[in-house]
Amino acid sequence: METALVTGAGRGIGLALVQQLIESGYRVIATCRGEPSPALRALESSSQCQIEQLEVTSQRSIEDLAQALSGVTIDLLINNAGILGPNNQSLHQLDPTDWLQTLAINTVAPSMISLALLDNLKRSANPRIITVSSDMASFHDGGSSLLAYRSSKAAANKAMQGLALELRSDGVIVCPVLPGWVQTDMGGASASETPEESASGIIKLAQRLTLKDSGHFFTWRGDEYPW
Ligand code: NDP
Repeated sequence: METALVTGAGRGIGLALVQQLIESGYRVIATCRGEPSPALRALESSSQCQIEQLEVTSQRSIEDLAQALSGVTIDLLINNAGILGPNNQSLHQLDPTDWLQTLAINTVAPSMISLALLDNLKRSANPRIITVSSDMASFHDGGSSLLAYRSSKAAANKAMQGLALELRSDGVIVCPVLPGWVQTDMGGASASETPEESASGIIKLAQRLTLKDSGHFFTWRGDEYPW
């Protein structure tokens, strides 16, 4: 049985990923900051699900998690936790502290978590890291609103490309993935995909990735996405 670790698992795409991974036969380590949501607690009754605390911006929290998981094999790490950032994100209005906080969660945390769990990933015969990104990360995206979010996801993609190159010789596959426009607190009710559709697509993609895909940007449908 493969083991997957999902960050930001209390709601939205993260919660759906935990549900779908359990249904697909994975053992799942579901992380959340603070108290687990009732929906996540309900999944814990499955013997396949273990909940751990992780505040992704805290290096201490990341190290505590790595210590708690010492000796555990992780086959699939999904860096899902993320924020949209502050309300005012035009360049003229953006508060630098808010911008840095958005970068801390969306950009720096996925790299720090991946590095902290590297020993766990290297125990796997087929280690994969997926970081949930956005179409707004792409240079093909022309928008200038949500600048903190756009820049944080673009930088996350670049960090994942670097990680992919660094970890290639260890056989670790690293890919940023676009989850679609998803009906969550972040995506809103009029979004086009359900969390279940997005999660199931991401898992199918994760199952077929090979080392030659590492460093490439994919959609939840499995197509490569232009940077
Ligand atoms: P939600 O806002 O529904 O959920 C965000 C999750 O991230 C929550 O579980 C939240 O935890 C967690 N989180 C936020 N900050 C932290 C932190 N500092 N430490 C630990 N956990 C944290 O968003 P979605 O499910 O929609 O988004 C999931 C991912 O998908 C994000 O990376 C997002 O950028 C990306 N994405 C989403 C799209 C969409 O249409 N929904 C489109 C493109 C990308 P808590 O409950 O404690 O706040």
